[in-house]
Amino acid sequence: RIGTAALAVQVVGSNWPKPHYTLLVTGLCRFQILQLLKEKPYPVAEVEQLDRLEQFTNQHKSEEELGELSEQFYKYAVQLVEMLDMSVPAVAKLRRLLDNLPREALPDILTSIIRTSNQEKLQILDAVRLEERFKMTIPLLVRQIEGLKLLQKTRKPKQDDDKRIVAIRPNRRINHIPSTTEDEDEEDDHDDVVMLEKKIRTSSMSEQALKVCLKEIKRLKKMPQSMPEYALTRNYLELMVELPWNKSTKDRLEIRAARILLDNDHYAMEKLKKRVLEYLAVRQLKNNLKGPILCFVGPPGVGKTSVGRSIAKTLGREFHRIALGGVCDQSDIRGHRRTYVGSMPGRIINGLKTVGVNNPVFLLDEVDKLGKSLQGDPAAALLEVLDPEQNHSFTDHYLNVAFDLSQVIFIATANTTATIPPALLDRMEIIQVPGYTQEEKIEIAHRHLIPKQLEQHGLTPQQIQIPQVTTLDIITRYTREAGVRSLDRKLGAICRAVAVKVAEGQHKETKPDRAEVGEGEDCKEHITEDAKPESISDTADLALPPEMPILIDFHALKDILGPPMYEMEVSERLSQPGVAIGLAWTPLGGEIMFVEASRMEGEGQLTLTGQLGDVMKESAHLAISWLRSNAKRYQLTNASGSFDLLDNTDIHLHFPAGAVTKDGPSAGVTIVTCLASLFSGRLVCSDVAMTGEITLRGLVLPVGGIKDKVLAAHRAGLKRIIIPQRNEKDLEEIAANVRQDLTFVMASCLDEVLNAAFDGGFAVKPRVERLNSKL
Ligand code: ADP
Repeated sequence: RIGTAALAVQVVGSNWPKPHYTLLVTGLCRFQILQLLKEKPYPVAEVEQLDRLEQFTNQHKSEEELGELSEQFYKYAVQLVEMLDMSVPAVAKLRRLLDNLPREALPDILTSIIRTSNQEKLQILDAVRLEERFKMTIPLLVRQIEGLKLLQKTRKPKQDDDKRIVAIRPNRRINHIPSTTEDEDEEDDHDDVVMLEKKIRTSSMSEQALKVCLKEIKRLKKMPQSMPEYALTRNYLELMVELPWNKSTKDRLEIRAARILLDNDHYAMEKLKKRVLEYLAVRQLKNNLKGPILCFVGPPGVGKTSVGRSIAKTLGREFHRIALGGVCDQSDIRGHRRTYVGSMPGRIINGLKTVGVNNPVFLLDEVDKLGKSLQGDPAAALLEVLDPEQNHSFTDHYLNVAFDLSQVIFIATANTTATIPPALLDRMEIIQVPGYTQEEKIEIAHRHLIPKQLEQHGLTPQQIQIPQVTTLDIITRYTREAGVRSLDRKLGAICRAVAVKVAEGQHKETKPDRAEVGEGEDCKEHITEDAKPESISDTADLALPPEMPILIDFHALKDILGPPMYEMEVSERLSQPGVAIGLAWTPLGGEIMFVEASRMEGEGQLTLTGQLGDVMKESAHLAISWLRSNAKRYQLTNASGSFDLLDNTDIHLHFPAGAVTKDGPSAGVTIVTCLASLFSGRLVCSDVAMTGEITLRGLVLPVGGIKDKVLAAHRAGLKRIIIPQRNEKDLEEIAANVRQDLTFVMASCLDEVLNAAFDGGFAVKPRVERLNSKL
C-alpha cells in the first residue's frame, strides 16, 4: 500500500510497430494509501506523505542516529565509484555528487544506478524508514563491488566493460539532478570515442595505420563535436577499424573440382574455361600472386561476369564487382583527400570494406568504358591497382596510408579492346569470349537459363514445357544478339505469362490454355520424353490441374511475346540492283550490314551517308576508283552508256542504321559489289555476305573479327560468305556445325569476289572489238 508520488515530465508515444508510450517522471516522495475513494475510471485515494517532510523536520536527529550506517554506506559508494574509469566524465561527476548530495538521498540514487532487479528496486522504494533503506541497499552495493573486482581480475579490454560503464551511468533526470541533454550527448559520445580507441588498439592494422589512427583519436578527443571535422575524423577512424587489414579467407583449390564447377555453371566457351583452369592450376602450384590479370573481352551477355563469379566460388573467395562504366574521375578509384567535405574512399577500399576480407576476387567490369575528365584519368589510378609490383602499398587518398592489395585477384571485363588505354591493356592478358552459335544458345537455354527462370518464378517442369523448337524460334525471331541476355529476358517473360495461367489454373479455369496449346499436341509427347521433368512430388501432382504442363509452342509464343521482331528480310531487300550485304564487327558482336547505292544525274559527286568514319569514306573512294578503272573490262556503264561511270552521274552510298557510327576498312569489298550491281543492273545473290579490305589494285586484304562476323551471317540465315584468302586460318575457330551450314569463298582479289557474289559469276566478257564503220 506504499507508492511513490511522481510528476510526469514527458510522455512520448509511437504507433509503430505497435502502440507504446514512454513516460518520464520525476519522483517526489513516498506515500501511503489511507482510503480508496473510487476505483473507476481511475483510482482516487486519500494518501499520506511518508518521507521527505518528516526528514526535513528531523534532519539532525536522523543523521545522528544513522550516522554509522550512512557513513558505511558512503564508504561503499565511494569505493564503487572509484573502481570505475575516472577519465569518463560521467563517473567523475558521480564522484562529485556523492560528496555534495544529502546522505539520505544516496540510497535511492545508487539503487537506480547499480545493477539491480526490478524486485529489489521496488523493495527499496517500499522501505519507508531511512535506516531500513540503508540496510537494504548496502548488500546491493557490496554485490556490485565484488562483481567489479572479479571483472578487473580477468580484465582484458573487452567491449563488455564498456557496456558496464554505460550501464552504471546515472540517469540523473529521474533522480532530481538537473542536467542538460547536451551534456548527456557529449558523454555518450565520449564513451563511443573510448570504445573506438579500444577497437583501434585491438585491430590488426599496419603499424603505420595505427600510428595515424592514434594521432587522429587524440585530436578527436579534444575536438568539440559540433565541429564538422569531428564527424569526418570519426568516420575515418571507423572505416580504418572496419577494414580487413589482416583478415582473409582460406583458399581451397582443387583443379578437378574447379573444372567440374566451371563445366556445370557454363556451357560451351571452351577456350575461356581452358585458360581459366590454367590460371587456377598455376596458382595451385605456385602460391605467388604475381600472375597476369585476366581480361575477358566479348559482347554483352556471353557470361564474362558469371565466369568471374565462378572463379571466386572455386577458390572459396569473396566476390565483389566494381562497375567502371562511365567512371571519369580519378578519385572514384583512389578516393578523395580528407580535406574535402563529403570526401570518401575510392571503390577499391569501399569494396574491401564491403567484403570484409583482404583477398577477394574483384571484377573490374567494363574497363573499356572508363572516361577521362578534368578530374584526372581513372585509368592511371587503375594502373597502380593492377600492377603487382606496386599494389602491395596502394594508397587511397582518403586513407592516406598504404593498404596491401597484393592478395586480391583482379579480373577485368570489356566489350572491346579498342578503347582500353594501352598502358592498362599492357598489364592484362586478353581472353576473347566470342558470341554463341544458335545451337550453343539452345543448349545454354535448356541447361541453365530455363531452370533458373523456372525457379525464379516458382514454376516446376511439370507446369511448363518449352521445347527446343520454341527456343530456336525465340533465338531467331525475337532476339538478334551475340550473347544470351535478351534470350534470358524473353524466357522470363514467358515464365511470367505462364505463372498467371498456373495461378488461374488453380481455380480449374484452364480450358483456354488447352485450346491454345492444342496444336502442339503431337510434339508435346515427344518433348515430355526428351526433356524429362526432374522430380515429381506426389503432392505437387495432386495440386496440378490435368492440363499441365502448359506447352509453349509457336502460337503461345506469339501470344506472349507479340509478333516476331526479326523476320528473314534478307531476300526482300536484295530485290533491286545496288544492294549488297556486308559483315561488320561491333563491340556487341558481329552484325550483317546492308550497303545501298543509287545513281542519278549530276556532276560526278559521291555522297556518303550513315555516319561513316574516315577510313570507311576512303574505302568508298577506293571502290569507285577501282570500278572506274575497270569499267571497260566489266562492261559497266552509266545511264548514258559511257564507261566513265561518274560522267553526268552522282552516286549516293548509304549504310543503314544511319544513327550508328561506323568505321573500319572491312566494308571495301561490299561497296565494290554493291556498285558493280548498280552499274551492271544485276542482282547480288540474296544469300551472300562478304567482308574484306580492298586496295587500289583490286587485292583483298585480311580483316579482323571473322568469327563474330560468320556467326552473325549464320544467325541471319545467309549461306555463302566471301572472306579474304588470308583469313582462312580464322575459320578453324568456328564450330563445325556452323561451318557445315555455310559455304566459304576465299578471295584474294576483287575479280573473285564479284564472281562469287553474282549468280552465274561476273566474268570478264571477252572484249568484242566493235568496228565503227564510217561511210
Ligand atoms: P556479361 O558479363 O558477358 O555481359 P553475364 O555474365 O552477365 O554477361 O551473363 C548473362 C547471363 O547469361 C548470366 O545469367 C549467365 O549465367 C548467362 N550465361 C552466359 N553464358 C553462359 C553459358 N555459357 N552457360 C550458362 N549460362 C550462361
